[in-house]
Amino acid sequence: MIVDRRQNTFDIPFKSLELMSEKKYDVIIVGSGAGGGAVLWRLSEKWLKARKKIGMIEAGDFVLPAHVYNFPQLKGNWKNIFSKVSSPIGKRLPRFSGAEQILALGGRTLFWGAVTPRMHASDFSDWPISKKEMDHYYDIAERIMGILPSGISPQTREILQLLQLNGFEGARTIPQAASDGQTFSSICFLRKAWEQQPFDLAIKSRLLQLRMLESKLIELTVADSNKKIYKLYANKIVLAAGALETPRILLHSGLHGKAFGHYLTTHSFIKAKGEFSGERFGTIVKEIRILIPQTDKTPYQLQLYISKRSISMVCFGKVESHFDNKLTLDPNNKDEFGVPKIKIDFSYSDRDLEVIRQMRVAVKHVLKTLGAKSVYEKLMEPGKDYHETGTCRIGIDPSQSAANRYGQIYGNSGLYAADNSILPSAAAVNPTLTTIALAIRVGDHIYKTY
Ligand SMILES: Cc1cc2nc3c(=O)[nH]c(=O)nc-3n(C[C@H](O)[C@H](O)[C@H](O)COP(=O)(O)OP(=O)(O)OC[C@H]3O[C@@H](n4cnc5c(N)ncnc54)[C@H](O)[C@@H]3O)c2cc1C
Repeated sequence: MIVDRRQNTFDIPFKSLELMSEKKYDVIIVGSGAGGGAVLWRLSEKWLKARKKIGMIEAGDFVLPAHVYNFPQLKGNWKNIFSKVSSPIGKRLPRFSGAEQILALGGRTLFWGAVTPRMHASDFSDWPISKKEMDHYYDIAERIMGILPSGISPQTREILQLLQLNGFEGARTIPQAASDGQTFSSICFLRKAWEQQPFDLAIKSRLLQLRMLESKLIELTVADSNKKIYKLYANKIVLAAGALETPRILLHSGLHGKAFGHYLTTHSFIKAKGEFSGERFGTIVKEIRILIPQTDKTPYQLQLYISKRSISMVCFGKVESHFDNKLTLDPNNKDEFGVPKIKIDFSYSDRDLEVIRQMRVAVKHVLKTLGAKSVYEKLMEPGKDYHETGTCRIGIDPSQSAANRYGQIYGNSGLYAADNSILPSAAAVNPTLTTIALAIRVGDHIYKTY
């Protein structure tokens, strides 16, 4: 468990881009969220003795030194802080209208729910990595993130039994990267990495473009908050800027592969609420959190949050990977740095719509089983789950994937991706544990082949 109690301090010094531009790095990691943090931690651990030069650049500012829930005084108004670092880019993306861009040191993991199930075994059937190998990396990720089974109260046991007897055999408590009152964020990775060896970290430093040099070095064009441009150089680059930004950088750098930006997936996302007529399960002091996992036959996952008089549900349905669900650049619409903004084509397939229908039936059945009256049930806009994935997916066929099974971008052996973009398929589970497991594996590959 690497969450520590130095909540209010952040001891890692920030470097200026000017200083970073004077060095040649072994590796530069772009983005300090879930994927970037995991690669950084793994490389720092593996290179403990070798002392390589590692840099990290982060477009966002320093906002919090840990997950927002770790500050009791902020818990009630975390959305205010969230809105300061997020831009609702979905407002101009009619087919992906729930999308938000979040720029901050720590990325989305400052705000995430830390729900961390593994993917269902059947989802690995078309993956380029075996379930056995993924289990090895899941074990590492769960250990370092402190994902521990939670204790079960008598009321939780009663609810689980009711669900299990009524068709939800796999019901269990929600696995969370949160224990002892501390919620995990990727800043824990940064701290742990720093304890192992120093690295250079620049915030408010936005990667705009990459260029492959003949010397095999990679040149990064990076802008600071005053829009001053710097050139950084590294032997290896790991892109971990998130599933909407990583392919944007690749495309804007003139790097094109058939699958770059394609196979965009997300989850169909239903929020629901039910009410009990009284204190149905007695006085519940601490919210009871139950997961009804995806199975072979039910391609959706239901999260239940049960309190004294009500039950809230967060439900994710599996969305198929389709070539035509894609992100491209809009040459007529550029940002403040002159980089084209993204356009998104996304629609649910007939199969995805059937999953949504099944999920709705399951929501009703859960409420009935637990004796709750439905208050509302809403299908959220695509992208609102903050789970977009697949836009640089790994695979063995360059015509259907952007990166090989180690996250190396096809055609560019020094260039890796290690964020949600590399997931080959979305399953019906929250993606981040799987992304972190894959990012650790990317770190291992860089270490072994450097
Ligand atoms: C409110 C909320 C709740 C969530 N709950 C859960 C949950 O319970 N379970 C779960 O599995 N997932 C959850 N998620 C999703 C989870 O946070 C993401 O899956 C995960 O953080 C994605 O990791 P990533 O590395 O792809 O991107 P991020 O963690 O977003 O990291 C990307 C980083 O890149 C930086 N960046 C972007 N562009 C550039 C650039 N051009 N140059 C330099 N840096 C750049 C960003 O600032 C950011 O730090 C939730 C998300 C939110 C917002």
